[in-house]
Amino acid sequence: MSEELNPFKMAQQQFDRAAEQLELEEAVRDMLRWPQREFRFQIPVRMDDGSIKVFFGFRVQHNDARGPAKGGIRFAANETLDTVRALATWMTWKTAVADIPLGGGKGGVIVDPSSLSTSEKERLCREWVDAIWKNIGPRTDVPAPDVGTTPQMMGWMMDEYSKLAGQYTPGVITGKPLNGGGSQGRTEATGFGVVVTIREAMKYLDIDPKGTIASIQGFGNVAQYAAITFIEMLGGKVQSVSCWDREDRCAYTFSKAEGIDPFFLQKITDQYGTINKDEAAGAGYVIEDGDAWLRKDVDVLIPAAVEGVITEDAAGQISDKVRIIAEGANGPTTPLADAVIAERGIFMIPDFLCNAGGVTCSYFEQVQNDMNYYWSREEVLSKLDQKMTVAFNGVLRKALQHEQYMRDAAYRVAIKRVEWAMRLRGWV
Ligand code: NAD
Repeated sequence: MSEELNPFKMAQQQFDRAAEQLELEEAVRDMLRWPQREFRFQIPVRMDDGSIKVFFGFRVQHNDARGPAKGGIRFAANETLDTVRALATWMTWKTAVADIPLGGGKGGVIVDPSSLSTSEKERLCREWVDAIWKNIGPRTDVPAPDVGTTPQMMGWMMDEYSKLAGQYTPGVITGKPLNGGGSQGRTEATGFGVVVTIREAMKYLDIDPKGTIASIQGFGNVAQYAAITFIEMLGGKVQSVSCWDREDRCAYTFSKAEGIDPFFLQKITDQYGTINKDEAAGAGYVIEDGDAWLRKDVDVLIPAAVEGVITEDAAGQISDKVRIIAEGANGPTTPLADAVIAERGIFMIPDFLCNAGGVTCSYFEQVQNDMNYYWSREEVLSKLDQKMTVAFNGVLRKALQHEQYMRDAAYRVAIKRVEWAMRLRGWV
């Protein structure tokens, strides 16, 4: 992995830049540049054929000054400790910028989940909890689903933790299935929140959202609901989405000039696990290479797939028509690309602000678990809209006040909140 693309190097570079601007004290920098705690553990799992396979798992708690660490668990074949560290770090900034009383954490397992049967997945989930349960908990560190993990898996993990703890403990994990302690609105929360921030950015930029066009990288959880909400809430059109094709081992972009139909593409994705080329071509979609989404003449680009995709070179290829980049994914833009984007005057909604809807809804889920009283979908989404709107405008105010790029302003808001919490607790 090149230095430019190492996500933890990226997270540290972004932090160093902000720390410099904020003239942070040395001890505060030392504490925030690295995670507070890291766990790396073996997970032996009995496979369906009777053999034992040993997987490697991680849990990283970057900072818990503002509350229990919070962040997803990723099951990915290319998972690395540095990726988990970076994502845990971004979670600290995300919970702080969204102003929810939680810290930052992340976990992972090196595994391609599609290579496992359902029962093997269940055993892997339960063994993950067995390995780490003493170091997680509703008041310590609260995991959630992420790339490669699902609500069902969270249900198994919650059950395993509850068995070990000797009591029903739904608040140990969020993103659980509905009826299993999950919250209404969690599935769409991240994509919905992405579009709330786009709506607020458009207000500031004096853009009429009706008829605006977006191009999206990815067509997973975040991308699907970002597409649906962009159309339903803003009256906009999504021209392109892209996704990874497992058989061809490359990504493709699917476009329609009159706008994609996210519900049609969702149906195909549910059936095939990805957008099937034949089905899409049959419905009149133009199929191009996996990078084509980035070169489209649209108003808004939404990278909502993986990290490190907008490199310095890619940033130069973005159309002059693009006004807003809304980072649905974590870490899609490298620091070198940020410089190009800032220079070109494209409005950036940085990841840990833009995609904070997921963790905010997870926080709502925990609150509901604690109360044992559950809100309607409308109530959840309305509370989410309010939180995201306040978070976005808080960062925008700082950006205008200090004449800063939005990512720098978001770091300013987040780091200051974490620093205050550390000072209040007497850590520094
Ligand atoms: P997902 O697994 O549901 O979807 C990922 C999508 O990306 C899939 O459509 C896949 O085909 C596509 N993809 C993978 N590699 C690609 C490539 N090289 N080019 C184009 N498409 C590619 O994952 P998700 O939950 O939608 O998460 C997407 C991103 O958003 C990740 O960075 C994740 O960390 C971040 N995120 C997710 C949430 C959430 O609530 N799900 C919250 C905050 C941030």
